[in-house]
Amino acid sequence: MTSPRVSVTGNLRVPDPFNEPARDFAPGSPEAAELLKEIDRIRGQVRELPHVIAGERLPLGGPSDVVTPHDHGHLLGHFSPAGPHEVTAAIEAALRARPAWSRTPWWDRTAIFLRAADLVTGKYRAELLATTMLGQSKTFHQADIDINELADFFRYNASFAAQIYDTQPRSAAGAWNQMDHRPLEGFVLAITPFNFTAIAGNLPSTPALMGNVVVWKPSEKSALSSDVVMRVFEEAGLPPGVINLVHGSGGEVAAVAQQSEHLAGITFTGSTAVFRQLWKSTAANIDRYRSYPRLVGETGGKNAVVAHPSADPEALVTALVRGAFEYQGQKCSAASRTYIPRSLWKSVEEPLVATTANLRVGDVTQHETFVGAVIDGASARRLERAIERGRSLDSHELLAGGSTRTEEGWFVDPTIFRTTDPDAITMSEEYFGPLLSVYVYEDDEWERTLQLVDRTSDYALCCSIFAGDRRAIAQGLDVLRDAGGMTYVNDKPTGASIGQQSFGGSRGSGTNDKTGSPLALQRWITGRFIKETFSPAVDWTYPYMGRRG
Ligand code: NAD
Repeated sequence: MTSPRVSVTGNLRVPDPFNEPARDFAPGSPEAAELLKEIDRIRGQVRELPHVIAGERLPLGGPSDVVTPHDHGHLLGHFSPAGPHEVTAAIEAALRARPAWSRTPWWDRTAIFLRAADLVTGKYRAELLATTMLGQSKTFHQADIDINELADFFRYNASFAAQIYDTQPRSAAGAWNQMDHRPLEGFVLAITPFNFTAIAGNLPSTPALMGNVVVWKPSEKSALSSDVVMRVFEEAGLPPGVINLVHGSGGEVAAVAQQSEHLAGITFTGSTAVFRQLWKSTAANIDRYRSYPRLVGETGGKNAVVAHPSADPEALVTALVRGAFEYQGQKCSAASRTYIPRSLWKSVEEPLVATTANLRVGDVTQHETFVGAVIDGASARRLERAIERGRSLDSHELLAGGSTRTEEGWFVDPTIFRTTDPDAITMSEEYFGPLLSVYVYEDDEWERTLQLVDRTSDYALCCSIFAGDRRAIAQGLDVLRDAGGMTYVNDKPTGASIGQQSFGGSRGSGTNDKTGSPLALQRWITGRFIKETFSPAVDWTYPYMGRRG
């Protein structure tokens, strides 16, 4: 790859970013008809999902199957997990691409990702939606907001990059101070989760936008849509080797990458246990590295919805149903524990339980479906065990759901437990499925309940406060200040919009680098200050020394 020449002069301005509007996908609408046609096309294929290293696709075919979670007998594709040879090749390809890419003018890099945004909402939209629905079992609406978010990431990140590059130091008379916003020295390893195609595309592209080269290991459970995202990058004009995709086991890919002295950073989204493991294994190799690798991890959550006696019961029920059960509860931000005062519970219990019991669980390509299948058999078995555990506890009462059906698809019914034990495992552990635990507190224990919410789990990702009373909202915001990187008032904890609510949490939930804001981009640059003096000193003495000689 040769270094492109600078052919533009000017302080270029990135187009104003915007959030791609959601579409309805109502039955019979043109957008639904177009998508159903594309779903049929994808369903009729078995795709070979290659690694993409230096622009080369290899190998074709492979032993790992990709299936439809809500119809797991249906094969969608297969891939071959990368071994040390492929991972090493991907690292070498990235390092070869680095000299030219890191010198490519920022506006040329930015234009590639802006073009990618238009490909996402244009030529590739139906394919991205269909592969996300079939491969990750998302409903029309959930797939739509996911794919829109992918375009939002590209558009907002372009604007955030421009803001960062605009940040320059002041200069005193006789000198010009400059900040060179350099990419990191080496390559970045991006390891992405299955649950958002948007996150899968954002993690490798953010460091690349800032001039870095990347080895991207997508989740084996979203290999189908990740393959389309990679084609979008290529068609948008990303030079070969800048992002190299390797499928396979995260542990094996990371182990090879962590042996390289050129590992400059890891950007990870996934479970807390895996991120802690990655942090430890990186630390164990610290003497190898040329620089201290940047570690960015957005991980699990046990997101609380806490209601005050003054809360609106209808709004609360809607937030709980959507927040806990959309996408089968497989969002890091999903509501999974709720604290409701006794007086309010009287008007919340019946509609919450009845609505949950009536949610349609099934094939996501049917319009009536609200809840699809969980991602795989291991996840269904894990959730089945969690439900059995809840049933076995005297402190727990099953209010809704509680069954799983796995013959055709990995279906877990939306499940609600009420517990009298606020410290129960169901109130503290992330299940990453459609499980909601309810604790009913006495009305006069609002402040104590806020303390309980704060201390019950190791996570601090999202929380929601429902109240009409302003004083209660203020108390909630104060006591829960460290309990969530995202706090919602009278809204569900899911559904952050890029550029509006930047994402991330602290404590066990991650490094809180605020995805969807300039802070997230800042992690992938390392500043160099340059001072140029126009009239250098030619006399080494100072006036206080008096005249000599
Ligand atoms: P996961 O941790 O199982 O997998 C995530 C990625 O890590 C995958 O690519 C996987 O192959 C890889 N991986 C697995 N074991 C590894 C290892 N030992 N070393 C290196 N990589 C490894 O998570 P998942 O099931 O894909 O996603 C669910 C989790 O992600 C939940 O905990 C959820 O809360 C979290 N999540 C967090 C956010 C956030 O922004 N905080 C967003 C989405 C998902």
